[in-house]
Amino acid sequence: MLVKEGIIASEQVAIGKVKLMNKQEVTIDTRKISENETENEISKFNNALSEYKSDLENSNVDNDTQKEVINAHLNMLDDPFLSETVISKINELQTSDKALDDTIKEMVSMMEALDNEYMKERASDYKDIGQQLIYRLKGIKYEKLDSLEPNTIIVSKELTPYETSIIDKDHVVAFLMDLGGKTAHTSIIAQTLGIACLVGMKDITSNVTDGQTVIVDSFKGKCIIDPDEDVLKEYTELKSKLDEEKDRLEQIRFEQAITTDDKNIDVVANIGNIEDLEKGLESGAEGVGLFRTEFLYMNNEHFPTEEEQFEYYKKVVEILDGKPVIIRTLDIGGDKELPYYKFPQEDNPFLGWRALRFCFDMPEVFNSQIRAILRASAFGKIRIMLPMVISVEEIEKALGIIEENKKALRSENIDFDDNIEVGIMVETPASVIVAEDLIKYVDFFSIGTNDLTQYVLASDRGNQKISNLYNTYNPAVLRAIKKVIDISHAHDKWTGMCGGFAGDTKATKLLLGMGLDEFSAAAASLPKIKDTIRRTSYKEAQKYAEDILKLERTKEIEDRIFNDK
Ligand code: PEP
Ligand code: MG
Repeated sequence: MLVKEGIIASEQVAIGKVKLMNKQEVTIDTRKISENETENEISKFNNALSEYKSDLENSNVDNDTQKEVINAHLNMLDDPFLSETVISKINELQTSDKALDDTIKEMVSMMEALDNEYMKERASDYKDIGQQLIYRLKGIKYEKLDSLEPNTIIVSKELTPYETSIIDKDHVVAFLMDLGGKTAHTSIIAQTLGIACLVGMKDITSNVTDGQTVIVDSFKGKCIIDPDEDVLKEYTELKSKLDEEKDRLEQIRFEQAITTDDKNIDVVANIGNIEDLEKGLESGAEGVGLFRTEFLYMNNEHFPTEEEQFEYYKKVVEILDGKPVIIRTLDIGGDKELPYYKFPQEDNPFLGWRALRFCFDMPEVFNSQIRAILRASAFGKIRIMLPMVISVEEIEKALGIIEENKKALRSENIDFDDNIEVGIMVETPASVIVAEDLIKYVDFFSIGTNDLTQYVLASDRGNQKISNLYNTYNPAVLRAIKKVIDISHAHDKWTGMCGGFAGDTKATKLLLGMGLDEFSAAAASLPKIKDTIRRTSYKEAQKYAEDILKLERTKEIEDRIFNDK
């Protein structure tokens, strides 16, 4: 029995058998070819290209994240620059594999040199494409993972986006990787599929063999290779308890979130695209509390047009079939960049030109989004939400812009919901301090705890060195939340929460007791939130929250909450 640790990329317990991916090393033929070989080398390259294309076109994937990879690769293969460069190198008497290898290396280093996350990702796609083409060029038998035995644990140095995209997702139960981080492609796919994943394990590939039994406990960041009988028994029991709990939650997921004393709470989903929406609905979401529209802008080659956005928002409301959606206007800048627009360098991007500030300076971008949202509002229940608000002036300005767009649509005889509600994200200290004023101008608040925590505590959410300080259980943040909820209620309005804290099921009872009206979180946590609400009395939760809000230290609050039975 051997225990190995890794970075937690997706939490789950899995028991299965190892499938070790040992990738064959490829030797590049560096000799100079003769002129009469060039034609043959060019046709070898073209064959590899069409073989890979047809593999991509025929891959059987049904999930958006996977489809995105396939489409990105197809587009890149169609880019004439790739073939032209390879062919010109072959004409300079290089072998086809050397020509391809050099071309890919040049493209990768060009992209990695750019200070742009999107381009860096494209660089890894090119590496992936290069590898797949070389395998086909050299006729190397490539082991696909599209048909696996049940309960397979994939162990590899790393998996490329293509490899992860074609994986047999019905039979894989965990990924263990030598390399990679939380945001690696494999990690994201594992999270989407809800299976265990540990990355950055350094040498897991040299510690397992094919067919070995392994337990993965990624809640604890470890895996147990060749477990003893009693450990296996312990984990088999734990796994069946987890499965039972999962089944139980699945059964109640479409029930309403009503407390034992009849208070009804809205439980809705955070989404960034249609796939998230579908997952949210499958998990029992009663609507959408946050549609992060920036993904429409980030996964694009230009600012999405009004028409493109309209079609997308319309599709969202049609899928929702009468359930409400809160569309947040573009929240770009900060850490979120665009591949086709260069943001100026800023010393403090989180305190800089982002969200509404950016939109106000880019009227064409903002107007086209507002028009698209308004037009889609004729097809379902849409609410608009403004991010990063700090003042009444900003709300007035945004409301003015919405009004002008309504006027224009009216004059063009285009339908929209004239009573569309407008709310704001409460995620800056200023918006908490003047919440009393802001609520008069809007229909609802939604608390963005991810940013609110970092701004209230002056603690960067991405800085490891102070990660102990970034904590939403800090009394300053909790009291800010309470104040916002109370103010909205005093004005007969409501407050939701769409920051990550709403999805922290340990905090559900506390937030319920504070009077939160709507919980908006990722699909995975919705059934558990509902379950907690359904087992709790609102009255009791109020008393519980009242006691907790009196505590002065984060540690006391955490101890009280984490030990509550
Ligand atoms: C938040 O800040 O809590 C939030 C929901 O917005 P984002 O995470 O997109 O900044
Ligand atoms: Mg935010």
